[in-house]
Parts: sequence; structure tokens; C-alpha cells
Amino acid sequence: LLTLRFNKTSIFMKKLFILLNLFIISQLLSAQTQIIAHRGFWKTSGSAQNSISALIKADSIAVYGSEMDVWLSADGVPMVNHDDSIFFNGKKISVQDTDSKVLKSIILQNGEPMPTLKEYLKVFKKTKSIKLIIELKKHRTKAQEDELAKKTLRMVNSFCLQNRVEYISFGLNFTTKLIHLDPKAEVYYLNGDLSPKVMKEIGASGIDYHHSVIRKNPEWIKEAHDLELKVNV
Ligand code: MG
Repeated sequence: LLTLRFNKTSIFMKKLFILLNLFIISQLLSAQTQIIAHRGFWKTSGSAQNSISALIKADSIAVYGSEMDVWLSADGVPMVNHDDSIFFNGKKISVQDTDSKVLKSIILQNGEPMPTLKEYLKVFKKTKSIKLIIELKKHRTKAQEDELAKKTLRMVNSFCLQNRVEYISFGLNFTTKLIHLDPKAEVYYLNGDLSPKVMKEIGASGIDYHHSVIRKNPEWIKEAHDLELKVNV
């Protein structure tokens, strides 16, 4: 009887020890820096910035997330591209001023056509664990930005991807608009000119600033964490 008791205690201790270790490992992992592939994972063969391949390849290396940039075409279609200006038939054109039909015919460096946000989300839905970081680019007018914010949220909702998507923007209008339209959305501001306190007041999830901004305001890290905001660089 005594031996049996001892064995049970021993098994219990072992289990406790394993659980304790798992807890410590999970704490260490959660404290680790998380990495986001900027414009996807594109510095690799067969990939290109903001291409569907860059998204799939980011998923294959199990980073925290994959980032991309979105513009509204002249005919109101959210398109995935970094710059507003792009070469078409040897001429520089503006994404904002061009219809989606033309934009979709533009071929990226890896041979894929420029994707629409809808096409991007469709592929993202099939990825395993990464988050999608959607950057909404600053447009010429508030009306364009409001339309893009509305359309992007609607599209993300239609794919039921609300919990796997985060938003970033240099535009304060986009930041506040997204939060206003979906208070649960994770939204980060990029422009570097507002303190964590202001971010908390407008309901943002955190700051996402260039490292030079953080170096100038090192106290913002603790300030943000104390306000339960995330700090992205
Ligand atoms: Mg970007």
C-alpha cells in the first residue's frame, strides 16, 4: 500500500513538473519578438512584393504575420500594390486613377498579375496560422479612404477573417474610420507623431512606428505597455 502511494505521488509530481515546464516554455515563447514579413516573403525565388506567392511563402516559414498594401482603383476595387504609381505600357500611371481591369493586367516581377484584395483574402483564408496585416495607403481624398475602409472591412467579414486580420495606416483618417466602423478591429497607427496616450484615447490597439521614432521617445514603450497597447516597430 505504501509503495502504491509513493508511486501515485511520484506520477503526480512528474505531471506537475511537466506542466510547470510547459507553462514556463509558453511564457518564454509569448515574450519573444514576433516577426511580420513586410510585403510578404518576397526576397526569395519565385516571389515578388505583395504577390500571392509572397503570402504563401510567408505562411511556409511560420512568421507571425504577412503584411501587404491596399489601394482603391478608379472604379472602386481594392487592389494589392505598394506604390500608387506603376509602369503600364512604358508609362507611369496612378493606381488611384486607373480602372481595375487595367491594373489586373499588370504583371509583377514573378509573373503573377497584380492581385485584388478579394483574391488575396481568398488565398489567405487557406493559410495555416499567420495573420494578415493590411496597410491602407493614404489616398487623395477622404471620400476614397472612407470607401476603401468600408469595402475592406466588409470583404474581411465576408470571408469570416476578422480574428486573423490586423490593420495599419499612416493616415489618421483611416485609423479612426476603421475603429469607428469596427471597434473590435485591431488597428495600428504608423505615422509616429502621436503618443501612446492619444492612441489609447482613439481606441487603437497600439503604435507601429519607425525605430527612429522609438529611439527619440524611448519612454513610449513602457507607456504603451502600461496602457495595454502593443508596440510594433
Ligand atoms: Mg506597407
